[in-house]
Amino acid sequence: MAIMLKTAAEIEKMRRSGQMLSQVHAAVRDVVKPGATTWDLEVVAAKKTAELGATPAFKGYNGFPCVLCTSVNDEVVHGIPSADRVLRDGDIVSIDCGLVVDGYYSDCAVTYAVGQLAPETRKLLTTTEASLARAIEAVKPGATLGDIGAAVQEIVEADGFSVVREFVGHGIGTRMHEDPQVPNYGQRGKGTKLREGMVLAIEPMVNVGKPDVQVLEDGWTAVTQDGSLSAHFEHTVAVTRDGALILTA
Ligand code: MG
Ligand code: MG
Repeated sequence: MAIMLKTAAEIEKMRRSGQMLSQVHAAVRDVVKPGATTWDLEVVAAKKTAELGATPAFKGYNGFPCVLCTSVNDEVVHGIPSADRVLRDGDIVSIDCGLVVDGYYSDCAVTYAVGQLAPETRKLLTTTEASLARAIEAVKPGATLGDIGAAVQEIVEADGFSVVREFVGHGIGTRMHEDPQVPNYGQRGKGTKLREGMVLAIEPMVNVGKPDVQVLEDGWTAVTQDGSLSAHFEHTVAVTRDGALILTA
């Protein structure tokens, strides 16, 4: 499939989608605390999405049952909200959400601290978020997908963590997943060149231990094979003449 370049008008629509998504995230963030269940987060996200008049992008996607993916501790991505999953002090929870607004998708993920974190856990969140920031800084016309991957990989591995290989970022537009794939590892100067009008979901997934993941029997929840903690940060960004424009800020 060819990479779909977006016009300025399309990027504006995607920004509207992304801004609504930020509001959903803000509503969810307010209820992340010890004692809350991941289902509590789902209820808040569903209500906010409906209030905004947006359509959840994940619910029904290949049969996924919920508005949010809620991935706790060693869960990497695609955790399913549950009334049985109670957040405890010292946990981390990755909230991934997507919306469709006026036909255009947005996709954004944040990992939150639940209460007080151990220092290494705090470091995992700081490093993963910083790796996304570095990747976004690398975005400009003429840069490559390898520049994005290398930016993530360098900071993550320098801090002694590892980059998940099995899941990658992606182009996004009138579909949630478009070409190209956007790996969180790579070599500077290699891979597809970025062009003005590309819109990418950049989403480093970072493990404390080894990079390997496995999917649980529910068919969705991906966990680290070694049981180590994992974090996930994601923004939808447009490639503009001046560099990256974050649509989900
Ligand atoms: Mg996502
Ligand atoms: Mg994504």
